[in-house]
Amino acid sequence: MKKGIAILGSTGSIGTQTLEVIRENKHRFEVEVLTANSNVDLLVKQAREFLPNAVVIREEAYYQQLRESLSSLDIKVFAGEEALNQVVEFEGIDIVVTAMVGYSGLKPTVSAVKAGKDIALANKETLVVAGKMIIDLARKHGVRILPVDSEHSAVFQCLAGEGFNKIEKIILTASGGPFRNYKPEDLKNVSPAQALDHPNWNMGPKITIDSSSMMNKGFESIEAKWLFNIEPDQIEVLIHPQSIIHSMVQFEDGSIKAQLGIPDMKLPILYALTFPERIKTTFPRLDFAKNPDLKFEPVNNNLFPNLGLAFRAMNEGGNIPCALNAANEVVVKAFLEKKIAFDKMPYLIEKAISNTPFLPGPVIGDLEETDKETREIVWSFING
Ligand code: NDP
Ligand code: MG
Repeated sequence: MKKGIAILGSTGSIGTQTLEVIRENKHRFEVEVLTANSNVDLLVKQAREFLPNAVVIREEAYYQQLRESLSSLDIKVFAGEEALNQVVEFEGIDIVVTAMVGYSGLKPTVSAVKAGKDIALANKETLVVAGKMIIDLARKHGVRILPVDSEHSAVFQCLAGEGFNKIEKIILTASGGPFRNYKPEDLKNVSPAQALDHPNWNMGPKITIDSSSMMNKGFESIEAKWLFNIEPDQIEVLIHPQSIIHSMVQFEDGSIKAQLGIPDMKLPILYALTFPERIKTTFPRLDFAKNPDLKFEPVNNNLFPNLGLAFRAMNEGGNIPCALNAANEVVVKAFLEKKIAFDKMPYLIEKAISNTPFLPGPVIGDLEETDKETREIVWSFING
């Protein structure tokens, strides 16, 4: 039996790499749904190759073009945000790969979980914004949340076979990004182009900026809390510039397990799609003799205040991580548009989360409100 796959955000970095994995394993997977925001040309190309049951373009202005381009094929064509929530419920889907960016991933993920679909989760912002809600829902509907993020895939792989053995600590590795050796005062003048130039990974623009500012590792810490049911003080972030060790788990007897490999997202994507099986690949193999000097160093918290802000939001809980995410989405956009300097990002995020009225057990409507209000307030800080 082939596994039916839906990819939300098939035209992005994770989406296209997921399709590469599927292309190499066509006998195992059937593409059921592909979606994009506005990149209609690539979506059409992908649909012609993989012949999904349905495609969705979020920007409704592209609907006609998409429909006409695929009119000779037996593919259902939809547009708009609501369609994203509906297509994930389709019958043939076994796994939904959430590869959209930011808050936009939340609602389709909720729909998919409620429809009983397993989730291959790349969209970490969903767990930052609504970790408790998603994990509770997944438990209720008997759904597996399979991590795609390389660090969490590493932890997940380290936990295989460990049963009820307790985690003492998770060590999340971080490359440190392009500014690891900068001084705090040098961050004032870095350009979007410099921040987009990640040393080890080729990713979409938003996560690349998050990596350069360490917010990505803050988000990943929150993601780890929910995925692995641990407390914030059980998470250690460690700089490892080569990105060979993808993360580690320390158990209560003091033993540490690590997962290693060449940095390539196709491996964690494949593991999420085939779990609990491992299948043969032609991916390049790691040669230890060529990587003799694996390096580690602590995080410089003065250089990267975002990490501390993420831990603060995680400790405060409730709707505060949702505000953290919304503020971050706005400042990243403003930085890319050259409206604010790089070092203004943590400053504005701190201001935003300090201004957020605390809600202890937010439901989806509360999160929507927090998201909207935070965006408005941060834009007013920027423009005012
Ligand atoms: P990209 O920007 O490369 O791709 C994003 C995808 O989502 C595109 O298909 C895009 O469509 C679509 N999209 C964007 N905004 C919306 C929206 N509002 N509504 C519907 N669709 C939308 O991102 P990445 O692939 O880099 O990242 C995707 C997710 O995976 C993020 O949450 C990221 O943190 C996570 N992740 C990524 C990693 C990586 O290596 N790239 C590693 C680990 C996690 P269009 O092309 O039309 O704009
Ligand atoms: Mg990661």
